[in-house]
Amino acid sequence: MRQSQLFGKTSREDPKDAVAANARFLERGGFVFKNSAGVYSFLPLGWRVLQKIARIIREEMNAIGGQELFMPALVEKKYMEPTGRWGVDISLEVLGAGEKEASFVLGWTHEEVLTAIAKHLVNSYKDLPFAAYQIQTKFRNEPRAKSGLLRGREFIMKDLYSFHADEKDFESYYSKVREAYNRVFSRVEVKAVYTVAAGGVFTKKNTHEFQVVSPVGEDTIYVCEKCGYAENKEISSLKAGSACPACGSGVEEKSAIEVGNIFPLGTKYTEALGLQYADEKGHKNYVVMGSYGIGLSRLMATIVEVHHDENGIIWPESVAPFQVHLIELGIRNHELGNIVKNTAEDLYNRLLAKGVDVLYDDRADKTVGEKFADADLIGIPWRVVVSEKMLEKNGFELKKRNRANPEILSAAALVEAVENKKDLL
Ligand code: ATP
Ligand code: MG
Repeated sequence: MRQSQLFGKTSREDPKDAVAANARFLERGGFVFKNSAGVYSFLPLGWRVLQKIARIIREEMNAIGGQELFMPALVEKKYMEPTGRWGVDISLEVLGAGEKEASFVLGWTHEEVLTAIAKHLVNSYKDLPFAAYQIQTKFRNEPRAKSGLLRGREFIMKDLYSFHADEKDFESYYSKVREAYNRVFSRVEVKAVYTVAAGGVFTKKNTHEFQVVSPVGEDTIYVCEKCGYAENKEISSLKAGSACPACGSGVEEKSAIEVGNIFPLGTKYTEALGLQYADEKGHKNYVVMGSYGIGLSRLMATIVEVHHDENGIIWPESVAPFQVHLIELGIRNHELGNIVKNTAEDLYNRLLAKGVDVLYDDRADKTVGEKFADADLIGIPWRVVVSEKMLEKNGFELKKRNRANPEILSAAALVEAVENKKDLL
């Protein structure tokens, strides 16, 4: 992609109301555009990152037998009423023109909708278990829409639901999801702590959250450095320094961001909506359910919170919008400058031919300083510079975003290094 053509521009100014690093850098870097409080557009750069995160999540959900589907955003009252979730604070109801009362809500979760579908598809134990998920926009009337993409009124969620004949089968799937979540979070390079959380309205059992320690997190957890055990303050009787219930060592109090959670739902929804199956003896039983969420947009913001410095984002390779940021510094209308330009064009085409994702800073109206500042802000893992100085040395400058010192390489060595992701630096 030529940066001169990119729909999205960088800005030097921090957004007025934003303090969180994700809000500052994602807006300034041209990844997202804030349309309203808690309502964001993903610009091409940001959408690329989101799609990379989505791809990792899809791979891990498919690997545990999740089947992707897509449900409506308009959820009718008849689904939410039986479970007592119609008219709750979090809903954004839809009022058609001329209507006095809403009959739809913008979907903020989909247990009811999927359970209703399952009623048509599940008759006997032979139809169980199954798990289905979607990646979809969710809508919530969040009064605290702040901290950039961490809390939106509209945000992108992966929601997986599993359906089982009994608790035992459910339990074994629950631990599979836990492992799949660990793989997702480690692939996007955030350290997510498995945290015991409130049972809440769904079930007497505890739920579990995946919490990433960060000063901007809205949650407070007690976490043991030694064994990794953690509890959400909402349900915890621990205090900073208390003995860890798992290993006896002292726990610490930390702010954290909830990037995902997993819920045992028991038969709460299947009873409310009448989802039963016939067992081997023909007896009717309620289906046992679990639900499992990951906020993709919140996860993207969390990655930025964890991976940045004062100049901008430092994307992990797995989710970076591009692998290489190629920067051309030729002086315009100048003999040597033209050679620099042609050399950069040539390298751009060679990298593209090798299947490398390149953002090529071919902008003629930017200074060296502006180009470097933008590269740091946007945070692509590898920066390649083509300049007169480098050509004199017969090479290209290659620098990793998270390292101070560049390396000078020949074109062939550079293409090879990038292609094989060799850690030369
Ligand atoms: P929170 O406690 O942060 O309000 P929640 O417990 O209501 O979230 P769920 O309804 O289970 O969360 O949603 C699943 C996931 O979706 C969460 O773990 C989080 O990653 C993400 N999420 C929830 N609410 C928001 C929001 N307003 N903006 C962005 N992501 C969100
Ligand atoms: Mg929560």
